[in-house]
Amino acid sequence: MAGLATAWRLSEAGWRDDFESITVYQRGWRLGGKGASSRGANGRIEEHGLHVWLGWYQNAFQLLTECYEELDRLTFRPDAPVRTMAEAMIPASKIGLVDRSTGTWKPWVVDLPHNERRPGRPGADGRDMTLVDFTTQGLRLIGRYFESLSSIRAPDVPEQMRSLAAGVPAGLAALGVETIRLSDRSETSVAPPFARGTNGPIDPARPSAGFRALDGTRQRTWLGMALVIAAIRGIISDGLLADPRGLGAINDEEYLNWVRRHGGPLELADFSVVRAIYDLVFGFIGGDVRRPSVGAGTAVLFGGKTLFDYDGSVFWKMTAGMGEIVFAPLYEALKKRGVAFEFFHRVDRLHPAKDGNRIEKITLGRQARLAPDTASYDPLFLCRGLPCFPSRPLVNQLSDAEGIGNHPLESHWCQWPDAERRVLRDGLDFDIVIFAIPPGMAAYTCADLASERPEWRDMIGGLGTVATQSFQLWLREAEPDLGWSHPGSTLSAFVEPFNTWASMPQLIQAEDWPAGKGPGSIAYFCGPLDAPVPNGPSDATHQHKRVRDNAIEFLQRDIRHLLPEAIADGDFRWDLLCGSDGRVGSDRFDSQFWTANIDPSDRYVQSLPGTDRFRLRSDESGFDNLFLAGDWTDSGLNAGSIEGAVLSGLQAANAVRCRPRWHRIAGYFMP
Ligand SMILES: Cc1cc2nc3c(=O)[nH]c(=O)nc-3n(C[C@H](O)[C@H](O)[C@H](O)COP(=O)(O)OP(=O)(O)OC[C@H]3O[C@@H](n4cnc5c(N)ncnc54)[C@H](O)[C@@H]3O)c2cc1C
Repeated sequence: MAGLATAWRLSEAGWRDDFESITVYQRGWRLGGKGASSRGANGRIEEHGLHVWLGWYQNAFQLLTECYEELDRLTFRPDAPVRTMAEAMIPASKIGLVDRSTGTWKPWVVDLPHNERRPGRPGADGRDMTLVDFTTQGLRLIGRYFESLSSIRAPDVPEQMRSLAAGVPAGLAALGVETIRLSDRSETSVAPPFARGTNGPIDPARPSAGFRALDGTRQRTWLGMALVIAAIRGIISDGLLADPRGLGAINDEEYLNWVRRHGGPLELADFSVVRAIYDLVFGFIGGDVRRPSVGAGTAVLFGGKTLFDYDGSVFWKMTAGMGEIVFAPLYEALKKRGVAFEFFHRVDRLHPAKDGNRIEKITLGRQARLAPDTASYDPLFLCRGLPCFPSRPLVNQLSDAEGIGNHPLESHWCQWPDAERRVLRDGLDFDIVIFAIPPGMAAYTCADLASERPEWRDMIGGLGTVATQSFQLWLREAEPDLGWSHPGSTLSAFVEPFNTWASMPQLIQAEDWPAGKGPGSIAYFCGPLDAPVPNGPSDATHQHKRVRDNAIEFLQRDIRHLLPEAIADGDFRWDLLCGSDGRVGSDRFDSQFWTANIDPSDRYVQSLPGTDRFRLRSDESGFDNLFLAGDWTDSGLNAGSIEGAVLSGLQAANAVRCRPRWHRIAGYFMP
């Protein structure tokens, strides 16, 4: 995503005045990296992993809006099912979380209110919400909550809560005064009234017996309030309102530790909202779900922006896969602008020049040669009128490529023999390099840079990455018939490792099933995978099998909490799975789709506490002709996300053009 964002910004009208050519080198047959998807049997959308867009992704939405406008499919492809941004992305406001405090898994779903704004709207600067706004919103929320308590009938509210509620107006007023005072001062560490434990009006660190007696809904509300209060305490007493680093100032501290330090009760560790934050950013060291970890600043930023600062809807979902909604349109529009694409090109090594100031050459493995009559590889095919990436290379455009589709060309351990070795040279084949390959793979491609430069060594060794796993089901019956009454919801904080489930009914019409054989519902599941970087292809096979086993176990043991009617006689109803003709029992699962994302490039880049310092900015490669793009750079957002990748890609383009870092970029997060 990041490399394409750079290419997008660099190739704007008039680009040939400054550059002779722009070429994207991509290993394998498709674009998209961690966001890639392609079409399999029956036009099935097969994703690398579930992707939703958050309503505050201003840069990503803006870029994609520009792309659709430029493609003008209403004129040039009027029959395509997706022609405009409005047809590409739809609001997805139903969020589900799963409580487990009562000893069982209890899902709850809220439909968060819509607003009239559209993400990526022209003029949005992404800076609408400052830390002061965030604090104010939080205070309002707390105020509304306690106001509402006064209207509840006596038996519903435990006595201690009532007395807390009585103390709140005074507490809020004191906190407000403190807020204003602090925003005018540069010193930090003033204890706000809430931080004074039992002397203050609220002590959420000490849930009362009354709290423990509350039902699930009220416990949840109370914990929600305790979380917001702890965050506001933290923002104020850590002096963040006056700290030029903003939330970045607390990114060395683990989120839950920070929350606890500011009075959050121990129960918050198991609160579904908190667990969902870790799920959202795959925040588990080594993929071990017993070791949750994320920088406090990133967690507060994501949580705050997601809940308080979304445009239109909290989430947005695509009406087809990432491949055809995001990457195919970008490919087509970039191609129209004159950007060249070299598919089947795997970067093997960047070689610094002897003087150490420039990248002198790049070696690549060419994975396949084009057929004699093919000028350039056209990676797309039409599925129901929509340009899509196929799940395998289009061999009719390749030479000597019989059987290439059985090889994982996107894997570092792919054993398909290269057609040729290519060397690109500075001044001859390139003048500027945008390195948009993730840090896991940089360990191999940039080994020479790391041996010479400590900052490269630190970046490669210091950033945490994690493998992920996902699977998709095509179920014959619609969700309401399976016992779920919130189709289209996105749910998190569920059983590990498949903690996230997205109900995707909007995709049914995008696929190409024979009449009467198609699904009534589509379900995507996703989560971390505790797998190290493999040593070779056999490790990859092993992990692929593990994900299959995990998914089958999950369906037999856990799915009942979400889709109770998918269980019969104590087992998952395997006959629900579409396209599984001929197989029986759990073997039917083999007809569905699952991935173990373990390739060094595919590992999700985490936001572990204390790792911001290892990130390099787009303009900090240390080489005059090398710029960096990816969710792993120091973009100010510093979290694995489509928005983080786009933000970084745009910063790389600004660096190439010698423009200020934030030129035409919305959002200013953690400088
Ligand atoms: C399972 C999963 C679910 C996710 N869900 C969401 C979500 O819901 N919302 C969200 O905002 N974000 C989500 N993310 C994060 C998001 O996908 C990433 O942050 C984003 O795609 C990163 O983009 P990137 O360009 O930095 O890196 P990548 O997408 O990894 O792109 C790197 C590119 O480099 C190429 N490459 C690698 N090695 C080589 C080589 N040797 N030679 C040539 N090319 C090479 C790759 O093929 C790829 O094209 C998810 C990530 C995962 C793993």
